[in-house]
Amino acid sequence: MKYTGQREISLSEEELRRYNRQIIMPLIGIEGQKRLKDACVFVAGLGGLGSISSMYLVAAGIGSLRIIDRDVVDTTNLNRQVIHWTDDMGKEKSVSALEKLKRLNPYCNIEAITGSIDDLESSAFIADASIIVDATDNLETRRVLNRVSLEKSIPFIYGGVDGFSGMVTTFVPHETPCFDCLFPFDIKKKGAIGVVGPTPGIIASIQVMEAIKLILGIEGTLKGRLLYFSGIDMLFREVKVEKNPECPVCSRYRAGL
Ligand SMILES: [Zn+2]
Repeated sequence: MKYTGQREISLSEEELRRYNRQIIMPLIGIEGQKRLKDACVFVAGLGGLGSISSMYLVAAGIGSLRIIDRDVVDTTNLNRQVIHWTDDMGKEKSVSALEKLKRLNPYCNIEAITGSIDDLESSAFIADASIIVDATDNLETRRVLNRVSLEKSIPFIYGGVDGFSGMVTTFVPHETPCFDCLFPFDIKKKGAIGVVGPTPGIIASIQVMEAIKLILGIEGTLKGRLLYFSGIDMLFREVKVEKNPECPVCSRYRAGL
């Protein structure tokens, strides 16, 4: 976890009031709130998952948020991508999201980019982040994020949704298995998938819970555990994620190459 730890973080009277329901918890307190303000989270994608994760992160008082998406808002997004509204049709998602997030919490420093994550792979936009929150919808981009996570030692919180179901886990570089250990094979794209709005709502909420706990150093995260959610059966199931000793991605970093 990257913290500057060197700069003095202070909270104004207004911020102390705004975050009161977090600060009054012994697990957070003023020190925890300062840690949240010191953190920088990168949210990759502003669709169903990114709508929810960016809003909860900003509302919680994360000091810096970086967001990216390459698309514009389309009518078919509106059943689940709740940060984008009817008036935003045709607007770049990063612009639409930035407008709402600034209004939600002016104390958060938010940077938004319209573009592809592949182009940013080595840029400070990701590399300086304390945490990467996956809100993408494809394996290729997640593999890029996994590589950045390993190279820069940034925890990577994966989330995926399909219909009424979703999955979430937390990858911590050099400690847990990596994304490529879990998904070594490519899956053929089947075109647009159906999704009900609450599915990304639930999965993204868990991702933010993970991010907050990682930042605060609270145990019990999904490190090494894949949590599967079925909204049809209304069940959570857990699968242990094993490190693949043959994994071509994280084994490179394990060997210190
Ligand atoms: Zn791996």
